[in-house]
Amino acid sequence: MTICAIYARVSDESQLRGDSLQHQIAYCREHARRRSLEEGAPWTTPEDFVYVDEGITGTSMVRRPAVQRLLMDARRHQFDVVLFKGISRFARDTVDALVMLRALMASGVRVLSMEENFDSARDSAEFIFTIHSALAQAESEKTAIRVRVGAAQKARLGQWNGQPPDGYILDVHSKHLVVDETVALTIRDIFAMYLEGYGVRKIAEALNQAGRYTKRGCLWTQRHVSRVLRNPVYQGDVVYGRREKRLVVPDASNPLSRRKRAVYVADSDQLTVCQDAHPGIVPREVFLQVQARLQRQRVSSGPTGNQQWLTKGLLRCTCGSRMTITYNRAGTAYYRCARRRERGASACQSGHIRALALEQAVLSQVRKDLLELIPFERLTCQKLPEHDTQRELRNLHAALERQFAKSQKLFDEYTDGILEREQYERLNQEIQRRIRALEQAKEKLHAVLQKDNQVVDAGELARQTLVNHLSKQTPNPHLTKEILALFVDRVQVCKGVGQHREIAIHYRFHCPF
Ligand SMILES: [Zn+2]
Repeated sequence: MTICAIYARVSDESQLRGDSLQHQIAYCREHARRRSLEEGAPWTTPEDFVYVDEGITGTSMVRRPAVQRLLMDARRHQFDVVLFKGISRFARDTVDALVMLRALMASGVRVLSMEENFDSARDSAEFIFTIHSALAQAESEKTAIRVRVGAAQKARLGQWNGQPPDGYILDVHSKHLVVDETVALTIRDIFAMYLEGYGVRKIAEALNQAGRYTKRGCLWTQRHVSRVLRNPVYQGDVVYGRREKRLVVPDASNPLSRRKRAVYVADSDQLTVCQDAHPGIVPREVFLQVQARLQRQRVSSGPTGNQQWLTKGLLRCTCGSRMTITYNRAGTAYYRCARRRERGASACQSGHIRALALEQAVLSQVRKDLLELIPFERLTCQKLPEHDTQRELRNLHAALERQFAKSQKLFDEYTDGILEREQYERLNQEIQRRIRALEQAKEKLHAVLQKDNQVVDAGELARQTLVNHLSKQTPNPHLTKEILALFVDRVQVCKGVGQHREIAIHYRFHCPF
């Protein structure tokens, strides 16, 4: 009996083609049934081995839970064959696809793709697979372009693509936006409050406290408010192409950490704009005033120097949220709870902490712990056994002495008339050559000895490096950051009064503290 696993995945394009998960799974099941008939042996497709990937966009392929389970079960030899409808369903692009194929084949699993009639049990499977998957990738790129061109065309006519934003509903017939008065009030208030001088955090807080939630019934966040303020849809325009997905590799040492990230397009030439496509929720002047103020805020948001915030990303608030850096008007840096910044004081009670003091505390604590923990004395380099070198040197000296003596004897024999001048010169030449070789060897040994004496205590060097780099007057902030990241998993800020708060450092290694 052949046990088959099924892998199904929906991508942006497969939804467009009406290629649902159920369809993909049914397709694979039917294929397995046919195989059973052909081979006269059953191919079963147990429900447990159907791996469904609902296309979490933005995550790297190999990190997806369904893929992880598939690969793990393959390693445990839970099934013999993996079926999927087509290579474009198998992976997002050629690199991902090939990584998956190799991982599965290494586990002894046979890989079958129905549409391409691909079978990894055949010769040059990898080669054929790569070609199919490159073609699939090209096809998917073509589709993406088609979709984009179509959407831009709709936008040019003032029609809306996708979900309507807060404050609007979509007229399904005309594909134009219609104002949703219940939420439009909130949107107007957001713009008004911002112009009155409220910050985005304060606005989110005020709305949440008043029980005025987003269209989906969620709490307003700082980011959400900020997006509303920047969205030209509210002055009556349809602007297509403001956000674009780009492939990024967050971790340079791991090419498989690739994922897609949405970025805002800065170049206005790339945007498709239709002015007055629908009724605006705020007047154009208001929208422009808000954009001008947003621009000013951006300029005054903290000093941008070469200052490095050492523990950024490592810090955790008492509530467990990340902490991010903010600046007051005087340019002093503070760490604040990210959750509180986003959702207001109702989400977290913790106050801000002076960045400089906190970082110094973290550095000195890590320094103290590491100095105590690392057995630097045991890192001490074993020096080359010196006496060996010395003995070799003594031997060389003796050999040289012998050659000198020989040379002297030869000269005596020549002066005594025992040797002819010609004989003497020939023999002496040989001796002089040996002397030169020996002297060169002696020089080399001397150099080795010299270096030997300069060998520094490696343990002491490592200790010094740590002390130097884990301090505020660090010679290289990047290195300090790296050292911290290497040893420290996170720094938990504990409850305390005002600036006097305790920190707990969680190391990446098992540690007795
Ligand atoms: Zn917090």
